[in-house]
Amino acid sequence: MNEIFVGVDLGATYIKTGCFDSNLKLLAKTSAPTQAEKDANVIIDNIAATIEQCITNAGLSITDVSAIGLGCPGPAKYKDGIIEAAPNLPTLNNVPIRQMLSGRLAGKTIVFENDANVACLGEFTTGAGKGINDMAFFTLGTGIGSGIIINGKLLTGPTGNSAELGHTIIYPNGRLCTCGQRGCAEAYASAANTAKRAVEAVTAGEKSSLKKTFDDNGEITCKDVFDHSKAGDELAKRITDETAEFLAILCVNVLHTAEPKRIVFAGGMIAAGDILLNRIKYFFDEHIWNLKAESVEICFAALGEDAGIIGAAALAKAKLK
Ligand SMILES: [Zn+2]
Repeated sequence: MNEIFVGVDLGATYIKTGCFDSNLKLLAKTSAPTQAEKDANVIIDNIAATIEQCITNAGLSITDVSAIGLGCPGPAKYKDGIIEAAPNLPTLNNVPIRQMLSGRLAGKTIVFENDANVACLGEFTTGAGKGINDMAFFTLGTGIGSGIIINGKLLTGPTGNSAELGHTIIYPNGRLCTCGQRGCAEAYASAANTAKRAVEAVTAGEKSSLKKTFDDNGEITCKDVFDHSKAGDELAKRITDETAEFLAILCVNVLHTAEPKRIVFAGGMIAAGDILLNRIKYFFDEHIWNLKAESVEICFAALGEDAGIIGAAALAKAKLK
């Protein structure tokens, strides 16, 4: 009998769901608003309804499903199926989400994992990581999520909270991070903090074409920084280079930690294209120990937004094996 796996990517804005066959071929996908401001029961009902809709769209029923994978923001008690402190899903914190969801879905097995780890597994399984055994992954958005695959397996650590490379410190006593530490890579090089550094420079009086953007829109986005960088603005080029250098340092550090054959960047920020990727590679070559320079390939992700649902389904499949 063909096994069916469901992958769920739970974000603060949308719940995305995919229904897959045993070869992880996508049969149907759905998405619905999370309604993060509502209480936990409403959100869990929304997740269950989205999953059921997806299964129906594939012409199947819940009894056909072998297992469900769920990617959630952390920190969490992954083995217990409980989110602990996700800032954008406050009502779900400390709620037994896996158990409650399973109760709404005929007691199906639900595997619970960090959202960045799940996206990493998705890229590893059918995207930019195909054909290798060892990979590191960074997703660049409001924060920096990350994952590490060693010898074909996701590195999770004893509580499932390992590979939080965005919170590795690159400047002692540097910028304050949302996690409470100072000098985290995320506090400099996420999309949100790249934009924030541009705002700080412009409001401090530095000359830049971004000043007009800020005056007109009341904000500067990360995309604005890269667009102005491409157009030759000196400040935007400097901020792009600083972000690329911070990301290159993360690459050097993860290479020395886990020996990935490929380092994959994902998230909205990679829409910048070569202006970002080529500079990351440039600064990587500047900083890396010469002996190791040729041993890793740095590239962008291949799956886009589907990485989360594919990875979650891959996780469900792996759990069943
Ligand atoms: Zn941090």
